Amino acid sequence: MGMLATHAAATKSNGHANDRIKSYAPATGELLGEVPVMGPDAVRAAVDRARRAQVAWGALTVEDRCKRVLRFRDAIVDREEELTDLLSRETGKPLQEALVHEVSATATVATYFAKKGPEILAPRDVPLALLKHRKAVLHYVPRGVVACITPWNFPFYMPFRDIFLALIAGNAVVLKPSEVTPLIALKAKDLWDQCGMPADLFQVVTGYGPTGAAVIDAGVNFVVFTGGVATGRRVAAACGERLIPCVMELGGKAPLVVCRDADVELAARGAVFGGFSNAGQVCISVERVYAHKDVADALTKRMTELTKGLRVGDPSSRSVDVGAIIFPKQIEVAEDHIKDAVSKGAKVLAGGKRVQSTGQFFEPTLLGDCNHSMTVMTEEIFGPIVPIMKVDSDEEAVRLANQSHLGLNAYVFTKDRDYGERIAQRIEAGSVLVNDVLTNGGCPETPFGGIKQSGFGRVMGDDSLREMCDVRHVNVERVGIGSDNPMWFPYSDKGLSLARKATKLLFGGGGLLKKLANIV
Ligand code: NAD
Repeated sequence: MGMLATHAAATKSNGHANDRIKSYAPATGELLGEVPVMGPDAVRAAVDRARRAQVAWGALTVEDRCKRVLRFRDAIVDREEELTDLLSRETGKPLQEALVHEVSATATVATYFAKKGPEILAPRDVPLALLKHRKAVLHYVPRGVVACITPWNFPFYMPFRDIFLALIAGNAVVLKPSEVTPLIALKAKDLWDQCGMPADLFQVVTGYGPTGAAVIDAGVNFVVFTGGVATGRRVAAACGERLIPCVMELGGKAPLVVCRDADVELAARGAVFGGFSNAGQVCISVERVYAHKDVADALTKRMTELTKGLRVGDPSSRSVDVGAIIFPKQIEVAEDHIKDAVSKGAKVLAGGKRVQSTGQFFEPTLLGDCNHSMTVMTEEIFGPIVPIMKVDSDEEAVRLANQSHLGLNAYVFTKDRDYGERIAQRIEAGSVLVNDVLTNGGCPETPFGGIKQSGFGRVMGDDSLREMCDVRHVNVERVGIGSDNPMWFPYSDKGLSLARKATKLLFGGGGLLKKLANIV
């Protein structure tokens, strides 16, 4: 664990402008590279350059922007092996995860929005119920400079999930990647420059929290923040202070409800994959399992077998299922959760401790006999631990699933799809999947985001592309009513009596408004 100390020290710097960040491979301890810590002046200069570049980009048609975005997507796909290799080394995740959950998921988002962008952003006529003599049209205009402040768990997909949308909407982008995984962001920037994209339109500013704070302070027009709840509060406050609109993608505590009639094999496999994929460092990881008492024993037995069968280790080896812990502090967090749970009666069914090696590894850990007195059931884990709690009924499972300050994703397993859908509608979360886990994280068609302290606003889904724009409502007369408008100054008895008659006519028994506008 010598590596732990080095990496932790590297992430604990004071953030002065002349500092450097060293990025180490969490699986091997190898030093992969260094990046500068950018101070407020450098950040402001980057935002200014982006703002200047946005003018020409924003003036292109949406179709042209989409074509250019696809050029960048093609470069990503062409250089997939290079990107996947660096991703796997910088995060310690298996190559298959780096490819499927990051590079390929990014290409999916780019492809969907490049195809649908022109339609989603096309001006929209809004039929007016009353003012039929006028025409209202909504135009989606670029906001200007969009800041993406991102975490370390999906250091390629998470930024680009939002960057592609910001670009298609006509904005410039300033990315502040996590200090834990800065190299992949710079690699993406190189690729951007090499494939002939407008260099200044996409900027990467490296550093710690203060660099992110400086981005907000530099006068960006929209912020998409993905990270922890505590940081999210600070970022939202900074945006509020400056009245900058923002989206907050924060933590999760996804429950997985295994109903009485569930397919045990499917639920066990889903829970194990959803809990240990990316070593559990996913905001939508399965973080707690509520198992109906009729299936709990069989489920626990099968999950224990599956968890014990997972191969943990250096992701450069093809035969690894669970890679390294990216951020060393998460190992201590995992240990604290397990200690707390065991002291309150939980049983360690598999794993339970860090792996003695030069890399940062933790055994995939399954805990049985859990309850809500334990932090592992109530606080975000963000590591490879899955706690199981036996419940008396599906109702109890729903009640406990909703007993959380977080509400990002949730999962329900049942053989009865209609029943599953009804249960899903009662779970307080941004997304609920029936008989599946994680997949909505990479589904561009549907909105992704949380409720409660998991944040607000949505990324992905057609509305999120519009959200990257200011809405400009342009309103034009179809038929002129002249300058003698009785509703304008000067007010008069004639105007008042007309308004009275109109109010009765529209909302009274005759319901003219209803007829005019087909509304009640
Ligand atoms: P974090 O909150 O520590 O950091 C996120 C980013 O914010 C980093 O780039 C960091 O440098 C920056 N930052 C820190 N202080 C800042 C400040 N004052 N102003 C501006 N920027 C600042 O999060 P993390 O540890 O990198 O990531 C883990 C967390 O992210 C987990 O809680 C996880 O659930 C969450 N997450 C959420 C989603 C989602 O889509 N909802 C996705 C992935 C991760």
